[in-house]
Amino acid sequence: MEDLFGHSYPSTSKNLYADIILPVPIPRAFTYSVSPEIQDEIGIGYRVMVQFGKKRILTGIVAKVHQKAPEAYKAKPVLDLLDDYPIVNALQIKFWGWIAGYYCCHIGEVMNAALPSGLKLSTESKVQIHPDFDLENPNFPMDDRELAILEVLEKNQEMNVDQLEPLVVAKDLHKIIKSLLAKKAILVYESVKEKYSPKTETRVRFSPEYLLESNKLNGLFEKIKGKEKQENVLLKYLQQVPVFNNQELNEKGLSKKVLTDAGCSPSSIETLVKNKVFESFKVKISRFDPIKIDERPIELSQDQMEAYESIQHEFGNKSTVLLHGITGSGKTEIYIRLINDVLDSGSQVLLLLPEIALTTHLVSRLQKVFGDKMGIFHSRYSDNERVDVWQGVLSGKYNFIIGVRSSLFLPFDSLGLVIVDEEHEPSYKQFDPAPRFHARDAAIMLAWLHQAKTVLGTATPAFESFYNAQNGKYGYVKMDKRYGGAELPHFHLADILKDKKKNLLKLDFTRLMREKIQEALNNQEQVLIFQNRRGYAPYISCEECGWIPECEHCDVSLTYHQYQNELRCHYCGFKEKVPNKCQACGSEKITTVGSGTERIEENLSLLFPEARILRMDLDTTRSKYGYQKILEEFGSGNVDILVGTQMITKGLDFDMVSLVGIVDADRILFYPDFRSGERAFQQITQVAGRAGRRNKTGNVIVQTRRPDQLIFKEIIEGKYTEFYRQEMGDRRQFFYPPFVKNIKIVVKHKDFKITETAASQLKNLLSDIDGRKIILGPEKALIGKIKNLFHFEIWIKLERSSQAQEHFKHEMSHKISALQGDKRFRSVRFLVDVDPS
Ligand code: ADP
Ligand code: ZN
Ligand code: ZN
Repeated sequence: MEDLFGHSYPSTSKNLYADIILPVPIPRAFTYSVSPEIQDEIGIGYRVMVQFGKKRILTGIVAKVHQKAPEAYKAKPVLDLLDDYPIVNALQIKFWGWIAGYYCCHIGEVMNAALPSGLKLSTESKVQIHPDFDLENPNFPMDDRELAILEVLEKNQEMNVDQLEPLVVAKDLHKIIKSLLAKKAILVYESVKEKYSPKTETRVRFSPEYLLESNKLNGLFEKIKGKEKQENVLLKYLQQVPVFNNQELNEKGLSKKVLTDAGCSPSSIETLVKNKVFESFKVKISRFDPIKIDERPIELSQDQMEAYESIQHEFGNKSTVLLHGITGSGKTEIYIRLINDVLDSGSQVLLLLPEIALTTHLVSRLQKVFGDKMGIFHSRYSDNERVDVWQGVLSGKYNFIIGVRSSLFLPFDSLGLVIVDEEHEPSYKQFDPAPRFHARDAAIMLAWLHQAKTVLGTATPAFESFYNAQNGKYGYVKMDKRYGGAELPHFHLADILKDKKKNLLKLDFTRLMREKIQEALNNQEQVLIFQNRRGYAPYISCEECGWIPECEHCDVSLTYHQYQNELRCHYCGFKEKVPNKCQACGSEKITTVGSGTERIEENLSLLFPEARILRMDLDTTRSKYGYQKILEEFGSGNVDILVGTQMITKGLDFDMVSLVGIVDADRILFYPDFRSGERAFQQITQVAGRAGRRNKTGNVIVQTRRPDQLIFKEIIEGKYTEFYRQEMGDRRQFFYPPFVKNIKIVVKHKDFKITETAASQLKNLLSDIDGRKIILGPEKALIGKIKNLFHFEIWIKLERSSQAQEHFKHEMSHKISALQGDKRFRSVRFLVDVDPS
């Protein structure tokens, strides 16, 4: 018996306790006693069933086994041990604990996020008639509704509580069950069921007796002579499984599907099984198609070799290295080298990507190198697919995983390297629900727990990462040339206002942009057009009085979607038909204002009627393979122009793209957030990096109303460091990260006054916490109401020292619990976001 820290205990001990992580919003694990029967088996990472509160039975995970009885309460016993082996390891539980502590949430919430639901057990209450109960002759009078339920239960052995719901009004069901329980008419119990089911296939093989005596097999053909269909099955089987040469081959058999695909009749296979010639059996198979490895090794260029060696060198005394390589510098091949090194040494590797569907190029390159050894963890995988990857890591089938942020939770036990590609991507931060973790930062922590190394790769580092590289916390390796000497694209600024004055702005496009698009089309090159807003128009408005339709549930204007002729809220999903009259003044003069991707697509088709145009945004990629279809279509060369939101800024690598157009750069720049400059630099550089990647220099057109701004000059000249220095000056002066740590608390409730009061009381409580800090707010959030809940925000700026942070977070949790204990605020939600994006 070992606990989390490796202390061991004699297994004969009498008083053993287990701390259990339960899926409830409670900030700690609970201690239960372990009965002697399971003392030898129980350990960290096993699932158990325990009673929680008076009635509930929950499944949880053992975090620790020890001999210390809880002081405040008498420990209840662990009811049942569910596994023969632990489903999570001690490192994972440490990692969960770190996430819960750092991001101020409950470890049960982390567990919920970490386990694929196929591994979570669902406890469903079952109901049956009490064995001693006699419906004809009850001891107590029953009312109609009780009788109705009893009659149904009479006919069925057992039922789930939710199956009874149709019989009575749902809210009364609980009461009725309670009353029936009291009258000893029924029994209620929990049954546990595994949700995960592995994918299997049915196979057939010769029954053993046919192999033991060789003439029996020959006799068989005599016996079925003339039965062509059965003969066919036997011949096809022997073709694939030549048991005459090697009897052991029969063991694995042949999938029934292979036989039927080869033209065998299913009923003849069945007949052979029935006559005991064949036996049929099931085997577990992978849900993923096999992949061929392309052995062609790639030589690193001189620059890549130098970068690779520098990383190795930096690993000598730093555990994290920032690989700052411009777009097209060839970071992928360097990753491949590093990954191979670690796999050869027998350790595991995790490569994190912001979004797998968008990085098809990178994924297929890695698949060619690593084939089936590489597991992919997709955000759109079904639950069964997730469990398969999880089991693959456990069994050692996958030593290398590429995946989205949730792949941090897979059951690794010996990571040697974690790579975070596009580490600057804001989508690495999970916003809702808790844990609100940042996958890059959590990855560094995970690597640290495994004593592994981390590489952060990007062309445009997050300021936090660059700051850590500058002050020596991270190693730093720079690559500032494109692979093969390809040139960076040429930038052109196009002045929207100037063109407008001269009447040269047509359907959102300046003359320069139109000319360059035409040129690309003439040369049969592809074009990417970037607009960071989906839908047709950001809003519609009355020309007479200026009325703008807003969402009934949120403080935002409704976006016009032309295709469905609808107004939609992008925050809550509310939709309504477009009104034909102004609802304020009755005027029929309603116009659309501004342009989203849908309108840009339409405008392009008006300007370039001969061009084939495709759009990629949230609306066109909702299905599981939505992205893939669009990217394949574009990659096949059947499309001239791809219009899209920031989705198109990520790792696309298409040879034929020679032009990238940014319709409205000001929308990216003038966003009310201290990070807007950093984000604009990253986004514009990344989207520009999609242009002209191989032998031809690409062009980038940036449309703006303010071409004089310094940031454009710096993006164009690739002056990341200069830009960083200026912005850091401001951040230092006004106390922004990375000079402080931010915590944002959002207070939500359906009543405005209650929200405001709770928020200001929380602020007062937080101000009392000792230590240096700045607390801003409470203030109505930028969008003050979402889904009928009012939003107030409090921002806290803390010293960077981890001691100061821990102290504050600890006190803060207490203060929030205290407020939630107040009757008035019982239904107020306090949402804590550490390092908000
Ligand atoms: P990054 O991720 O740094 O933007 P990539 O890794 O996508 O760059 O590489 C850019 C292009 O150069 C890709 O098309 C890739 O196939 C090619 N490339 C990179 N390194 C090599 C190499 N050593 N040999 C051949 N082609 C390479
Ligand atoms: Zn009006
Ligand atoms: Zn809404």
